[in-house]
Amino acid sequence: MSESYMIKVEKLNKSFGDLHVLKDIDITVKESDVVCLIGASGSGKSTLLRCLNFLELKDSGNIIFEGEKVEKETHDLNKVREKVGMVFQHFHLFPHMTVLENVMEAPLHVKKLSKDQVKKEAQELLRKVGLSDKENVYPSKLSGGQKQRVAIARALAMKPDIMLFDEPTSALDPELVGEVLSTMKELAEEGMTMVVVTHEMGFAKEVADWAVYMHDGRIVEVGHPEDLFNNPKEERTKNFLDSVL
Ligand code: ADP
Ligand code: MG
Repeated sequence: MSESYMIKVEKLNKSFGDLHVLKDIDITVKESDVVCLIGASGSGKSTLLRCLNFLELKDSGNIIFEGEKVEKETHDLNKVREKVGMVFQHFHLFPHMTVLENVMEAPLHVKKLSKDQVKKEAQELLRKVGLSDKENVYPSKLSGGQKQRVAIARALAMKPDIMLFDEPTSALDPELVGEVLSTMKELAEEGMTMVVVTHEMGFAKEVADWAVYMHDGRIVEVGHPEDLFNNPKEERTKNFLDSVL
């Protein structure tokens, strides 16, 4: 890659009708960075992630991905999206497919790779997330933590260059949060570039290179997690942290 950053966002703006949701967002994510996005509900975190994945289209500004300014007029967004894995709060597994089939689906049908190869890689990914014994099980038989680990394996199956996580543990029972966070931590340690919307401040402190605080559609403060959590510079960051810590 010619550029040192994986994603550079410049002056990104996005509205839904009259509602201005993202306001002049500037953010840079370098290769192997883990960025945690924090902020109150409604501050625009999910919309920002969805713009990074081109699930939402920006109104103005630039999204430069791996050195290329991506525009819907000039790029096949489906192709770009293959490089950007996404994990949601509510898993979104295919209920009528087994765990293995869920992980094989995208590489098999989108990338049109051979079934043998895709199966081998899917099995490897399930081993990695600790679910080899669940290959032939349907999602309804899994715990929330297991479902989320399948969702992570499924996203990884497309060999993305970056993984986006939108509150991946918010829907889980407290006792199942740890297994998902430790899977994410392993991924980070392997050098995966990650942007994670999370309320898990412990995870952010331990794993993230950067913490980004959003308020009302703007990035208010960016810092190393320890600095941002212990010594917020902005009053709004301080108030938010007081409310969640
Ligand atoms: P967060 O993830 O930080 O809670 P969101 O990005 O989901 O925030 O939402 C930011 C604001 O945009 C909220 O007011 C929300 O209601 C609004 N919003 C999000 N998606 C849409 C949409 N598709 N249509 C209209 N309004 C939306
Ligand atoms: Mg959200």
